[in-house]
Formats: sequence, C-alpha cells, structure tokens
Amino acid sequence: MSRSVLVTGGNRGIGLAIARAFADAGDKVAITFRSGEPPKELTDAGVLAVRCDITDAEQVEQAYKEIEDKHGNVEVLVANAGITKDQLLMRMTEEDFTSVLDTNLTGTFRVVKRANRGMLRARKGRVVLISSVVGLMGGPGQANYAASKAGLVGFARSLARELGSRNLTFNVVAPGFVDTDMTKVLTEEQRKGIVAQVPLGRYAQPEEIAAAVTFLASDDASYITGAVIPVDGGLGMGH
Ligand code: NDP
Repeated sequence: MSRSVLVTGGNRGIGLAIARAFADAGDKVAITFRSGEPPKELTDAGVLAVRCDITDAEQVEQAYKEIEDKHGNVEVLVANAGITKDQLLMRMTEEDFTSVLDTNLTGTFRVVKRANRGMLRARKGRVVLISSVVGLMGGPGQANYAASKAGLVGFARSLARELGSRNLTFNVVAPGFVDTDMTKVLTEEQRKGIVAQVPLGRYAQPEEIAAAVTFLASDDASYITGAVIPVDGGLGMGH
C-alpha cells in the first residue's frame, strides 16, 4: 500500500531519516525544505521536495497544493520541522520566545490544519508530531523550546479527542538527544553531561526516531491515538 506521506523539515537530521524510512517502505513521500537544496539521495529516489517555510501560511497552502496535485491528499503527516533558540530567561527576548513558538507550535498547527481537510474527506489519516523529552522534563535555557514542545502534547491530545470518531489518529514522539545538527552546537562537556543521565549511555541515531514514527503510521498502530512515545534512551522515564 503506497500512501501519500508528508514530512516537514525532511531535508536533514531526523526528518531526513523519517522521509527515507517511508520511501524505503514504498510510500509516496513529499518533504518540505526551507533553505538550500533538497538531498539528491531523496530526489533520486522519487521523493517530492517542496520549498516551504512553515511560519508562512501562504507557503504552507502552496506546498499542499503542489503535493496534492502530484501525490493526492496527504494521508500521513509527520510534523517534524523545529528550531531552538536557547537562552536563560533573563536574557531571552520576546522574539526568541515567539519565533520558537511560531515555528514549533503554530507552524505545526498550520500544517496539521491544512492536512486535516483531505483526511476528513477520506475519513482516515495519521498525524505524528515530533516533540521532545525537554517538553516533558523542561530544560534550563530552553523555556521557549520546552513550552513549544509541551504545547504539542496538548494539541495532539485535543485533536485525538476531537477527530477520533473520523478515524484520524494524532500521536507524539518525544525524542531524547539525537545526533543531528541541532545537538552539534552543544559543547563536548554538555554532551558528556547529557550522556551521563541517559540510561542507555548514548545519543540516538535519527533512524531510531524514524522507527517509532513509521510504527505509529502503520496498521499495527491502528488503536493508538493521543499517545506520547518517548524515544529517549530512558532519559525521561516517568515523565
Ligand atoms: P535539525 O536542526 O537538524 O533540522 C531541523 C529541520 O527543521 C530542518 O529541515 C529545517 O529546515 C526545518 N525547519 C526549521 N524551521 C523551519 C521553518 N520555519 N519552516 C520549515 N522548516 C523549518 O533538527 P533535528 O533533525 O535534530 O530536529 C528535528 C525535530 O526533532 C525538531 O522538531 C526538533 O525539535 C526535534 N527534536 C530533536 C532532538 C535532537 O536531539 N536533535 C531531540 C528532540 C526533538 P532548514 O534545513 O531549512 O533549516
């Protein structure tokens, strides 16, 4: 069964691994990318790459039009695009706060709302949001990021209740620390400190996050909705 899948921020890091996993399984995959060029490995594999900044509602609308035109309505949406702007609260500007919320939370609202149009018509759909262990545990210097990622949990659970009767599922994956550009900015000392708190004693590889996402989009997960699945090496246990 080849479904129309959209992964936002699928040009690198976790999103790239997710897009690759769906494409390997034979789905019709579209990714959004914001800057640069899409990875050749994906375009060579037939993945549709659409330029889109999720903070811009008009770009989101245009991206969906192109995807629907080429792949039909989106049946599986993975809202993965996200940013950090870490700063201690006393130094955090309002722009640091609102820009992270606008990308991670409101950006997710924009892409989910638009996908729901087709999903409601089809009376089926799978939505997976990429949150973070930090949204559940908090993190010093990450009040903006944690608030945005915690917001995704309430967002998904509300939609799970609102649209469950239409056969739509909404789940959240909460990764721990993953080896991507986002965590490359951490110092070696910070990295060691994090790893020391992770029961599995290492960072995740992006493919380990992708495995949980493809499961939530699979038939095997047909009765799972409103769930928060940690993929964090045990870092957030109990949260
Ligand atoms: P990266 O920084 O490697 O990639 C982020 C992706 O999001 C890029 O594709 C980027 O596009 C895209 N993006 C950012 N802002 C926008 C925007 N306004 N519009 C469209 N696309 C945008 O991050 P990761 O792969 O590490 O993270 C992916 C997701 O996983 C994020 O939501 C992150 O918060 C979450 N996460 C990551 C963890 C980690 O340890 N790495 C841990 C827990 C959660 P571009 O290339 O143009 O910048």
